[in-house]
Amino acid sequence: MQTFDRKQLGFFPTPLTELPCLSRKLGGPRIMIKRDDLSGLALGGNKTRKLEFLIGDALAKGCDTIITGGAEQSNHCRQTAAAAALCGLDCHLVLGGSEPEALQGNILLDHLLGANIHWSGQFRKGERIPDLVRELEGKGRRPYVIPYGGSNEIGALGFVEAVRELNQQILQQDLGLTHIVFASSSGGTQAGFVVGSTLYGAEYRLIGIEIDKGEIGEHSFRSHVESLVSRTAALVGVSTANISDAVELRNDYVGAGYAVVGDLEREAIKLLAQTEGILVDPVYTGRAFGGCVDMIRRGEFSSRDTVLFWHTGGAPALFSYADAVVKKDDNKSAKKD
Ligand SMILES: *Cc1c(COP(=O)(O)O)cnc(C)c1O
Repeated sequence: MQTFDRKQLGFFPTPLTELPCLSRKLGGPRIMIKRDDLSGLALGGNKTRKLEFLIGDALAKGCDTIITGGAEQSNHCRQTAAAAALCGLDCHLVLGGSEPEALQGNILLDHLLGANIHWSGQFRKGERIPDLVRELEGKGRRPYVIPYGGSNEIGALGFVEAVRELNQQILQQDLGLTHIVFASSSGGTQAGFVVGSTLYGAEYRLIGIEIDKGEIGEHSFRSHVESLVSRTAALVGVSTANISDAVELRNDYVGAGYAVVGDLEREAIKLLAQTEGILVDPVYTGRAFGGCVDMIRRGEFSSRDTVLFWHTGGAPALFSYADAVVKKDDNKSAKKD
């Protein structure tokens, strides 16, 4: 890959380790995990990879203010606030809905990281961003707008690079990886994976677990990801025949919709915590890992396969979903008194 502007924000490579207790418990294939939750930027997560290129671009363009938006408990916004703080940039976050009573999870961290928080109220989150840009420019600032989830072709470069990183680890550890399973929500992770595996070569299948129901604007999620793949490929300079074959998406685990915690997520969070001591989150990785476990139980993988779950982070949101994730007497039977 040619060189793009990049600002180091995290610690890479992230660990790639095996989950032997989980494999044994499920009687399934060999299971590995890639720990992007340990990327190192303000409690970590997959957005760190994208932000290295997005913030690199903002700095190269001489911008002094970062604007982005997301849901109330956005991990992307929290990592963006941290990246801005560490680079001496101002940060404005436009978050969905109105200010909640309790400062918890990622919003607590957004405050600590010094972000200016704007609540979108009855407006759609994105609607306020152009006004905010004009207002800040009027005050002589040079704002840089990062899209939801950091998912444009520049952010996706982070996951093109992640494929190179993974392929090196595969070589070092002599792994015969057959599948990667991951959460797909704003599409940048998946687009980067697809372009990276074209650029660097990959023997494994990439399986994105859809997190949200329905469309992004007027487009289906699939067409959104495919167009992001084309733009990222064009930026990197690789050709993309068969994009739609390379974009594998599963929409059977969206449950009652975005951020609605169901049995799938509750069980998955506890399973991984109690077999391997690793925490996944209620919105993204709990759902994607739950999907991965379901696929293992259904026998979608053979015992010769090696399945990698890519942990994209999010555990700081657990605290704001405490009531949805666990009921107080859940562990009673396990207590030894
Ligand atoms: C943003 C996010 C994802 C989804 O990544 P996209 O690139 O937006 O598809 C997955 N997991 C967590 C924890 C996230 O914050």
